[in-house]
Amino acid sequence: MSETIIRIPSSGSGVPATQLFEPFTLAQFGGEAADPTTVLEARDLVKHFSSGRGFLGRKRHVVHAVDGVSFKLSRGRTLGLVGESGCGKTTTGRVILGLEEPTAGEIRFDGVDVTRLRGAEAKRYRNRVQMVFQDPSASLDPKMRVGESVAEPLFLHGWEAGARAERVANLLDRVGLDPSLGSRYAHQLSGGQRQRVGIARALALEPEVIIADEPTSALDVSVRAQVINLLKDLQAELGVAYVFISHDLSTVRYVSDEVAVMYLGQIVERAPSEELFSQPLHPYTQALLDAVPIPDPRAEAQRHVMLLEGDVPDPAAPPSGCRFHTRCPFATADCAAIEPVLRAVAPGREVACHMV
Ligand code: SF4
Repeated sequence: MSETIIRIPSSGSGVPATQLFEPFTLAQFGGEAADPTTVLEARDLVKHFSSGRGFLGRKRHVVHAVDGVSFKLSRGRTLGLVGESGCGKTTTGRVILGLEEPTAGEIRFDGVDVTRLRGAEAKRYRNRVQMVFQDPSASLDPKMRVGESVAEPLFLHGWEAGARAERVANLLDRVGLDPSLGSRYAHQLSGGQRQRVGIARALALEPEVIIADEPTSALDVSVRAQVINLLKDLQAELGVAYVFISHDLSTVRYVSDEVAVMYLGQIVERAPSEELFSQPLHPYTQALLDAVPIPDPRAEAQRHVMLLEGDVPDPAAPPSGCRFHTRCPFATADCAAIEPVLRAVAPGREVACHMV
């Protein structure tokens, strides 16, 4: 079969889109018939890191950063990934992006397992999936003018200078910046402006997926809403899909169509956003939501909340059975012995808990 399975975006810049991307084909990479609504799929994704050197018989530790994560991302939609620090959400994003090689599992982009791609094909995939980083300062070269930073991916794709300049001006305008700011350096911009530049750079090659890793947590509260609304507007306009990684549950609720809750490298609950926030089923999800204070002090005082105690266990030695059993107020002997599997409990809802 030689069916073309990736849309070729129009560049809108005078440069033929076919110069930007050659499409993957099923025959090329042994892909399977793609679900037309799914742009990205993770299947049993695993990422382990070895720590320690095993010197003189000392045990080598294996950090279970991501352990069997599966999800689907629909075109033009947003999947929120939430959980405490160290739960594996950022590593999941980095593995999807190709910044980390998975230990096991598959990442399917339009039905093609991209973990098997190498060289030029792997590079082509990485053009289709871009990242917006938490700290915009760290993602922009301080020695480059911000216009040059936005233009860099275009330069690497052989765009000639005139088309590049036009495209950069369009991109800066699209993210709400005066194109004249392209001549400034990153340190001459505010935090919010720098993050807009980071978004413009991520959009340069018209990706289908953007991994947004805590994109507003380094920003002042006053500009967070602006950047979030910009991301939503761009999604409506361009149809880009987001994996939105954050520990800020209010923001995740606002931007996400679906939410996956991660604990110690595993997804413990997945549901449409409003259902998850209005009726969390997994005890860990309930505790995360309970930790968000209510603005009304009287209601807050009367609220019955489940507070999490203790820290997330060491991912190099995850607890047996249910990984959450050491902190779960409902844990039984079975919970320490038998690992719950993520299973469907209602249409579109999955939970990994023996009690649900
Ligand atoms: Fe708690 Fe047991 Fe459910 Fe794990 S399986 S979340 S320990 S009740």
